[in-house]
Amino acid sequence: MNMKSAARVVVIGGGVVGASVLYHLTKAGWSDVLLIERDELTSGSTWHAAGGMHTVNGDPNVAKLQQYTINLYKELEQISGQSCGMHITGGLMLAGTPERMDWLKMAKARGRYLGMDLELISADEAEKLFPALDKKHFLGGIYDPIEGHIDPYGVTHAYAKSAQIAGAEIVRHTRVTDLIARADGSWDVITTHGNVHAEHVVNAGGLWAREVGRMAGVEVPITVCRHKINFFTRPAGATDPHPLVYDFVKNIYTRPDPRHLRRLAHVLTEPSLPRNVQ
Ligand SMILES: Cc1cc2nc3c(=O)[nH]c(=O)nc-3n(C[C@H](O)[C@H](O)[C@H](O)COP(=O)(O)OP(=O)(O)OC[C@H]3O[C@@H](n4cnc5c(N)ncnc54)[C@H](O)[C@@H]3O)c2cc1C
Repeated sequence: MNMKSAARVVVIGGGVVGASVLYHLTKAGWSDVLLIERDELTSGSTWHAAGGMHTVNGDPNVAKLQQYTINLYKELEQISGQSCGMHITGGLMLAGTPERMDWLKMAKARGRYLGMDLELISADEAEKLFPALDKKHFLGGIYDPIEGHIDPYGVTHAYAKSAQIAGAEIVRHTRVTDLIARADGSWDVITTHGNVHAEHVVNAGGLWAREVGRMAGVEVPITVCRHKINFFTRPAGATDPHPLVYDFVKNIYTRPDPRHLRRLAHVLTEPSLPRNVQ
């Protein structure tokens, strides 16, 4: 395996985050950059993601970032020729309590200054958008027409190809085993296929980020959450495709799967106990 012995930046981890960092470095003019992935691209949690694109978020900076990302997918498809599998279905965030409804009103007001086109709707209107809804549990919701879902595999490869076109290198089946700091602040990145000297190292190890951080003496406060996925058949009267429908207070969200034959409901349950995931 031929891996360069020096790079300005080494990105550890070939999930959607590592691939995005690699692309954005090239976009900023840094082409001497190398991504190292221990297995295949997307072999971490990116492989399992539902790919839901949500623009309504508790943090305005994250909401703005998510908005930026939706336009970015079109740019990536043009550069790389790789489909991101983008489906704009619209998204419906539900409120089951008066407090949550107030929060949605706040999100709409904040969305206005972020340039977002959000609409507050009643439970009756929500039922029209998603007929499987049992509206007695909800007071209303907020609808964003530009939400939808993407293919995480396609997005990661679109980032990777776009970065490679701009000069970045990607090495797969190579595990970073240690990071050794030099006196000048640069790093020796030790891998199963040789060492690389890097000015900067990016930890994009996802749920392994804690283990990667420890190589540099940094304790990353990250833990694993258990995710439950249910598949169910098309509800009677459902439009095709139905919008993303979610209630983050109850930690549940649904999306149609690409074949529109069954629906997915994701339930985020309690954080699982920290474990050695290496
Ligand atoms: C079931 C499920 C549903 C989800 N649904 C959504 C959703 O709808 N919308 C959404 O936005 N997000 C969703 N997510 C979250 C999303 O998947 C993650 O936030 C995202 O994939 C994290 O990407 P990452 O690149 O940080 O991590 P990862 O994809 O885990 O990538 C980390 C990579 O680092 C590599 N690596 C680790 N250690 C080393 C090492 N020592 N040397 C070299 N390589 C190493 C791993 O092999 C891996 O490929 C979901 C997640 C799950 C599990």
